[in-house]
Amino acid sequence: MFRAILLEKPDVATSTPFRAHLTELDEARLPAADVLLAVQASTLNYKDALALTHKSPVVRHWPMVPGIDGAGTVLESTHPAWQPGDRVVLNGWGVGETHWGCLAERARLKGEWLVRLPADFDAKQAMAIGTAGYTAMLCVMALEDHGVTPAAGEVLVTGATGGVGSVAVALLARLGYQVTAATGKAAEADYLRGLGAAAVIDRAELTAPGKPLQKERWAGVVDTLGSTALANACAQTRYGGTVAACGLAAGMDLPSSVAPFILRGVTLAGVDSVMAPLHRRERAWARLAQDLDPALLARMTDEIALGEAVFERAEAIMAGRFRGRTVVAIG
Ligand code: NDP
Repeated sequence: MFRAILLEKPDVATSTPFRAHLTELDEARLPAADVLLAVQASTLNYKDALALTHKSPVVRHWPMVPGIDGAGTVLESTHPAWQPGDRVVLNGWGVGETHWGCLAERARLKGEWLVRLPADFDAKQAMAIGTAGYTAMLCVMALEDHGVTPAAGEVLVTGATGGVGSVAVALLARLGYQVTAATGKAAEADYLRGLGAAAVIDRAELTAPGKPLQKERWAGVVDTLGSTALANACAQTRYGGTVAACGLAAGMDLPSSVAPFILRGVTLAGVDSVMAPLHRRERAWARLAQDLDPALLARMTDEIALGEAVFERAEAIMAGRFRGRTVVAIG
C-alpha cells in the first residue's frame, strides 16, 4: 500500500460531488509502465491546482492521482535506460492528466519520459524547479535561440511572482539580462528585486486593451499571462525582438493584430513543456543546474507535506494569492 492523493469524478446523475482526498492505494492499482518510482518529492504547479480544485478539465481519466511532476529513485525497471537506484525527474507527458501522477509515494511511469536528475540537485530542489522552472528555462532558451542577448536591451517577465515568472526572473538576471518584472502584487516588489529584477511594474499597465503598435521597449518577453497582457507585450516589443509565450493565467485569448509581426519583425515563440522532446528537456535541466542560483531557488520555495496542506495551497494558487514555488515532501 502507498499514500496518494486521489481525485474522483463528480456524477450529476447520482449527485456525487467531485472529491479530492488523501488515501492509501494498493500498488497493484498503479497503471502499466516500465519503471516503478519511489517518489521523494512532488510540487504544485498551476495545472496541478486546476486539477485539485476541479476548476478546469485537466483530468481526462478517473479516478486520477494528480501530480504532473515528480522526483525520486527508481525501484524497479524493465526499461534499458534505467536501473534500480537511479535518480530521476518527471515533468508532464500527460502524467496527472491521463496517467496516474506523482502526488503519491509510488508512481509507475514510462522510462522514455524520465530525465536523469543532474547531480547538483536533490529531489526537493528538482521539485522546487518543477514544470514551472523547467518551462521558465525553455522560455529563456527560446529567447536565446532567437538571438535575444543581454546586450539587446530590457526583457519583460509577466506573472513575475508566479512559479514560471519567479524562476524566469532569477535565470535571466543571472545571465546578465536587465529584467523588468510585471506583477499584480505591489507588496512583492522587494521579493522580485531580490531575485534580480532591475525594475518592477504594475501588471495593470499591460492588462488594459492597447494600440496594435506601442512604444518599443522590450528586446524579449517571457509571458505567462496570455490575453491582453500578451497582446500588449507584443505591441511593445522592439524591432526584431522575441516574445516567448507559455501561459494563460489571465486568459486563453489573444486580442492582438499582425502589426508587431509584419511591421517590426517580432517573433512570437510558443513554449510547451508537456510534450517537449527528451533532448530539449535534458538541455533545459543541464542549463538549470548551470544557471539557476540555488540560494534564490530556496528563497522562492515553500515546503509542505503530502496532506491537507496540498488542498489549501491549491486554492491559494487558484486565487493568485501565492508567490513562488511549492515543494510537496513525500518520501
Ligand atoms: P502561478 O500560479 O505560480 O503564477 C501565475 C501568476 O500569474 C500569479 O502569481 C500572478 O502573478 C499572475 N496571475 C494569476 N492570476 C492572474 C489573473 N487572473 N490575471 C493576471 N495575472 C494573473 O502559475 P505558474 O507560474 O506555474 O504558471 C503560469 C502560467 O504558465 C499558467 O497559465 C500555466 O498554465 C502556464 N504554464 C504553461 C506551461 C507550458 O508548458 N506551456 C508549463 C507551466 C506553466 P503576479 O501577481 O506577479 O502578476
